[in-house]
Amino acid sequence: MDTRENNSPIFPQGDKASPDYFTGMTWVKMLVAADAGLNCQIGNVVFEAGARNNWHTHPGGQILIATDGVGYYQEKGKPIRLLHKGDVVKILPGVVHWHGASPDSAFTHIAINPNAQKGIVEWLQRVTDEEYNHFK
Ligand code: MN
Repeated sequence: MDTRENNSPIFPQGDKASPDYFTGMTWVKMLVAADAGLNCQIGNVVFEAGARNNWHTHPGGQILIATDGVGYYQEKGKPIRLLHKGDVVKILPGVVHWHGASPDSAFTHIAINPNAQKGIVEWLQRVTDEEYNHFK
C-alpha cells in the first residue's frame, strides 16, 4: 500500500514564531482568524525537537489537538505530560502552562483559542532547560 499521502503534513508549515516567546524553532500557520464572527482563533503549530513556548496563560482558554510527533505539556506545579498524535488537552482560562516538542522528536498540534474577545495569550517567563529537562 502506498502511504505517502498519509504521512505528509496536513497544513503548510507557516511562519516562524517569535524568538521572544519560543525557545527553538517553531512555525505557526494561522487557519482561522480571531474575528468577531466566531471569536475563535485556530492555528497549526510545528515545533522542532526541543522547541517549546514560554510559560503563558490564555484569558479565553485553549484546546490543543496533537497531530504528529511527541510533545510535552505542563501546567504550573504539575509533572510534564507526554503528548502523542490524537491526544487532546483542555486548558482553562488563566491556567499557567507551556507546550512544545519532546527532546528527541518534533511535534505538531492544532491550537484552538476560543473566547478570543477576552484575549489570546499572556506571555510569561521562558521555560528554562532545567524545567524542560525535568520530565520523568
Ligand atoms: Mn497554550
